[in-house]
Amino acid sequence: MPFWKWILLQLALLILPVSIAHAASTATLVLENKPSYDLPGYMEILVDPTTDLTIQQAVDRTDWTGTVREQVPNLGFTPAAIWLRFSLTNRTDTSQKFYVSFEYPVTNSVTFYTKDSHGVFREEHTGSSIPASANVVPDRHFLFPLTIGQGETVVAYLRVQSTSRITLPIRILSDHALFRKAIRDYTAYGALFGLLALVLVYFIAVGSFLYKGTTLWLVMYSIFFGLHTAIRGGFMHLLLPDKLVGLTSILQLAVIAGLFFTGAKFFRLFLSLKSHSKSLDRIMIFFQYLSLTFVVLPLLPYPLIILITLILIVFNPLFSICLAFYFWRKGVSNAGYFAIGWIVAHGVAVYDFFRINGMISYNPLGEWPIPFSLFIALIFLSAAIIRQNTDDHFMAETDPLTNLANRRKFDKALLAEWNRCMRQRTPLSLIVADVDHFKQYNDSFGHKTGDQCLCRIADVLKQNTRRTGDLAVRYGGEEFVLLLPNLDAANAFTLAEAIRNSIGQVAKNTESQRPDDNITISLGVATQVPDEGEKPESLVLKADQAMYRAKRGGRNRTVESSSPG
Ligand code: GH3
Ligand code: MG
Ligand code: MG
Repeated sequence: MPFWKWILLQLALLILPVSIAHAASTATLVLENKPSYDLPGYMEILVDPTTDLTIQQAVDRTDWTGTVREQVPNLGFTPAAIWLRFSLTNRTDTSQKFYVSFEYPVTNSVTFYTKDSHGVFREEHTGSSIPASANVVPDRHFLFPLTIGQGETVVAYLRVQSTSRITLPIRILSDHALFRKAIRDYTAYGALFGLLALVLVYFIAVGSFLYKGTTLWLVMYSIFFGLHTAIRGGFMHLLLPDKLVGLTSILQLAVIAGLFFTGAKFFRLFLSLKSHSKSLDRIMIFFQYLSLTFVVLPLLPYPLIILITLILIVFNPLFSICLAFYFWRKGVSNAGYFAIGWIVAHGVAVYDFFRINGMISYNPLGEWPIPFSLFIALIFLSAAIIRQNTDDHFMAETDPLTNLANRRKFDKALLAEWNRCMRQRTPLSLIVADVDHFKQYNDSFGHKTGDQCLCRIADVLKQNTRRTGDLAVRYGGEEFVLLLPNLDAANAFTLAEAIRNSIGQVAKNTESQRPDDNITISLGVATQVPDEGEKPESLVLKADQAMYRAKRGGRNRTVESSSPG
């Protein structure tokens, strides 16, 4: 044996056990007829802190880890370049096209290497800092097509580097599975963004119509939440013009700053935090303004980055979650819906923070908690704000003591009914009622008993105004008005008398312990078919004058405005 051959043999014997050991530690992922395969569990990792290894240097290195057992390796925040190696064997009956799908879109640089038929490494470079037009397959995830002959095994390498966290959710998809995934994902996200658009249009309309600051802050919060979801889902990178791709990182930070800023502001306004506690409000103000530092985060020293991130993405949500829950338990109106929306959105934010930092294992469902939390937040925060707005609206038109309509509502309703009855040529009746000697009543029994008496009278009025269009109003202190469209004079008079009698009954039944308490009311009725030449106020005046005639006539009676005075 020539000497050089002997040397080669010795070398081979030396190398062989090494490569056998290596092969043993690298399980090949066998591709059969399944639509998709999770790659983690089949890949080796090499950490390159210098970030300047070439593919050949990486291949030659001997310090690759064995197969990584973790479901999805999660390296958190690291400036190092991460190399992955895996081998795939095609066990199907034919040569097949597969896709390596890298499913964490917020990763700056992802490069895929395989050998071509001449044994030369072919490189495909993608990532969030590279224009999406360079992607071999245009998708929100980074996809690398790979054709593997029947029975063939291919060894592939991936190099990943990122200024954000490094997490490695990678799947191997069949051609068919890729299209299914795309259709499913784009439909789900399409529905979500559609809902977001609807909510925004609605709230912009409502918010600007009612001049509601809280609603407009919810609009801005939802926009930032939508943008954040679009970035995390890989849509922003896919849709951003190539020229703007350089801005991806800053955009991402600006969106997070906006999300936390508008969120804190909305939180404070919705719960009127300041009126509950000045110091709690100050803490939220601190979180609110601290979130603006996200825009300049990369310029800060590393420990400060960690500290700010921790305060904003962990303490801030935990604090506000506890507050939302506390207000809910305390029974603050509408805090329930609000708390559910808020707790889900921020709970997911905290979970996501731990997940992408490698502190808890990566859920196989991967990114879906984020769009899910946007969905839940939209539904519940919208419900909370709609309820708050309708409550405000209701309060603005309701008398707080008796829950009857107030004068503001009466003025609106009177005009509407006046015009309607004018068009339809139907009569409109008004009854004005005033409690008799109520001052005396108050003086004898106290103001509180007087209030209770007014409430009981209001109940009688409500019971007698049940037709559509009828409205019972507390017009002033102890003065009430009933608006009665489509009711003629005779029926209005009958109704007034019925009310007067029931109030006498109520007084007798409930105040039987007090013989001197004999509450009565005086009523004035006016009816007319509205006419172009007149104003609705004239009808009020007529009914009021009739009521005064009832007072003058001895009280506890009904007078019609048409009756001779
Ligand atoms: P009249 O038969 O002429 O109407 O006599 P009156 O005492 O009812 O009339 P007056 O206008 O002199 O007094 C109305 C009283 O109604 C005065 C006030 O104490 C009482 N009042 C007005 N609003 C309220 C209220 O919200 N609660 C209570 N308890 N009393 C009220
Ligand atoms: Mg009175
Ligand atoms: Mg009065």
